[in-house]
Amino acid sequence: MPKIPAWPPKSLPRLFVDAALGDGARIELDAAQANYLGNVLRMKEGGELLLFDGTSGEWLARIAEAGKKRMTLAVERRTRDAEAIPDVWLAFAPVKRSQTDWLVEKATELGAARLIPVTTQRTVVERVKLERLRAIAIEAAEQCGRTRLPQIDEPISLTRLLKQREAGRTLYFADEAGGEAVGAAFRRGPSMILTGPEGGFSDDERSAIRAAPDTIAISLGPRILRAETAGLAALAAYMALAGDWR
Ligand code: SAM
Repeated sequence: MPKIPAWPPKSLPRLFVDAALGDGARIELDAAQANYLGNVLRMKEGGELLLFDGTSGEWLARIAEAGKKRMTLAVERRTRDAEAIPDVWLAFAPVKRSQTDWLVEKATELGAARLIPVTTQRTVVERVKLERLRAIAIEAAEQCGRTRLPQIDEPISLTRLLKQREAGRTLYFADEAGGEAVGAAFRRGPSMILTGPEGGFSDDERSAIRAAPDTIAISLGPRILRAETAGLAALAAYMALAGDWR
């Protein structure tokens, strides 16, 4: 008899469902998800998978009914509580669509709690499709094992972002003109990392950011990073120095 595999097996498919999960719950999958399990993963009735709803953790479920375009899942039991994620937000000036998609995917994998598109004087991309970014974050969460999704905000102007920031949330301003080394700057606690557009921040924006309370300018090294690289590098450094990699 082969050794009974660990329970549940690590490689079970993971799906985000926009429905409240609980013992014995029955979940109707949408057509795309039913197609993915049935036709892409070729799963049959009785097949097991993991579900999460963004708040209640992760659950083991079984395919109860499988039709051509629909599927019903029976939720069996919780396999993990919702994980605690570091209270770090990434406020970023949106860049070209593929690069913004890439940044949202990677920031979700890295554990950002909130993503805030920020429009600045030199932002070239005004419109971001939130539904699209949300779908990218869901897929990244399904893949990396997250049970909580990052909150993704409507774009906001830099001025409003600075005005609306709640007291006690440290703003780490990634400034290619120079700043503190991340090793000295990053501290645990409510945090927001801000990165600029390809064209950088204007001088008056830079002065307004630096004059804002509880703001620390950080350097991401001697080289000028692309906007999306800067967002990722800052987030990774934060996770290593003050987040959940420690
Ligand atoms: N236009 C700017 C220039 O040519 O000097 C470069 C802007 S850079 C492509 C985009 C954003 O990434 C910057 O606004 C900043 O937030 C961040 N960034 C890039 N390199 C950085 C560095 N070495 N240190 C801190 N932030 C950096």
